[in-house]
Amino acid sequence: MERKWREFMFYAKKPEMRIFWLFILLALSVVIVQSIYLPGVLSWLVVGVLILIAVVFFSSTFNLAKSNFAVKLEHEQLLGIFRSLQDGVIAYDPNFNIEVFNVAAEKMFNIKSDEILNTVFTPNKSSDPRFKLLSQVIFPSLAPIVIPRSLASDWPQIVDISFSDPLLEVRVTTAKILDPRGKLLGFMKIIQDRTREVSVAKSKSEFVTVAAHQLRTPLSAVSWTFQTLDTDKGIPENLKQIIHNGKLATDKLLKTVNDLLDVSKIEDGRFGYSMIKTNLIKFIEDVLSVKMGVAQVYGIKMYFDKPKDDIEVKIDIKKMTLVLDNLLENAIKYNVKNGEIIVAVEKIKDKPFVQVSVKDTGVGIPANQINKLFDKFFRADNVIKYQTEGTGLGLYIVKNILRQHGGEVWAESVINRGSIFYFTLPIDDNLIPIKEVFMGE
Ligand code: ADP
Repeated sequence: MERKWREFMFYAKKPEMRIFWLFILLALSVVIVQSIYLPGVLSWLVVGVLILIAVVFFSSTFNLAKSNFAVKLEHEQLLGIFRSLQDGVIAYDPNFNIEVFNVAAEKMFNIKSDEILNTVFTPNKSSDPRFKLLSQVIFPSLAPIVIPRSLASDWPQIVDISFSDPLLEVRVTTAKILDPRGKLLGFMKIIQDRTREVSVAKSKSEFVTVAAHQLRTPLSAVSWTFQTLDTDKGIPENLKQIIHNGKLATDKLLKTVNDLLDVSKIEDGRFGYSMIKTNLIKFIEDVLSVKMGVAQVYGIKMYFDKPKDDIEVKIDIKKMTLVLDNLLENAIKYNVKNGEIIVAVEKIKDKPFVQVSVKDTGVGIPANQINKLFDKFFRADNVIKYQTEGTGLGLYIVKNILRQHGGEVWAESVINRGSIFYFTLPIDDNLIPIKEVFMGE
């Protein structure tokens, strides 16, 4: 009871209730005046109506005071959370009127919230050196290096932005703020400072590059020595197998080192692509004819299901050869004896893409691991046991090369029945990324 009374007194003092108390004063004066001038029954009727109005009025103003207070509290709590966040938070209405600019954002952009709150932020602000960084975050199209991390049509939108002066790497997540009926109230940006993370990743990649470079030269010399001995007719019979094994082992090691070098170049965005218009069908035929011999050694038949018409695509021949080589080598390596491989090409209906598929009759991929297939160093449980060789880098390289061509890669598989690897390439050159950028793991 006491708690209810305290609650009543708390809300009774709120500004929303003032109009109600004014009404009570007015109603009391009316009651006094009319009790003098009006006859008894009519006077009671007026009192009754006034009491009814007072009850309805009280309940609505009291509820309004209560809900306004709850909203204010929520607003304050939310601001408190934003204030204490490590990530920068900026919220603005559809007219770019800044409504939230938290402490982390103040530090990141070296701007005080007082200078910017409740002002309309336009792209023109980028001409002022103090607001340049912030304007490139609010309008990423103004930023020098922007890497999209979500599709243009997806919400929230995620982009990575790199600045060189001052050195800053940020991931910006932009979300729409909607009311319960879905009306757009504004946007919120969460800005995560990734400068340290990116620099650690860079130095790790530099280490791998230097180590791999140092290993490659002596390994090439050892491989060359084994190769010379392997073809030397004068080598005694008892040493031939040892030399041959030595050559195979060195070649595998060299392949691992080369894969590592490719990965670090890809992650640094300096794999170096030179795209030229190519007849895709002829290109696939050429790669297949080289691989046919390897397939035969394993007793595997290889077919090319080619379309009637030629298809032109803009590709980097060397890199795309790496893609097909990887997919075909896997289709051979993870196939069964006397298995089959079918390569097919078709234009995707109503889309400016061509789809290539490599189907095998091999061991397949466990369903619960298929989503990790293109991750760095991934090797599925079912092959590790019997195929001890492999780095798990091939498909990671394949994915990155295809993305740089504006395409995608994915796989379908049934364990112990076989797998199909699909990839797409755009036939519209405008869909090929202009600059080489690492699009993430
Ligand atoms: P690696 O073959 O060197 O292990 P990849 O990146 O080429 O590396 O392949 C990663 C893993 O994906 C393989 O270890 C294997 O588990 C699985 N995989 C790839 N291609 C196939 C395939 N055609 N059939 C079955 N499993 C495959």
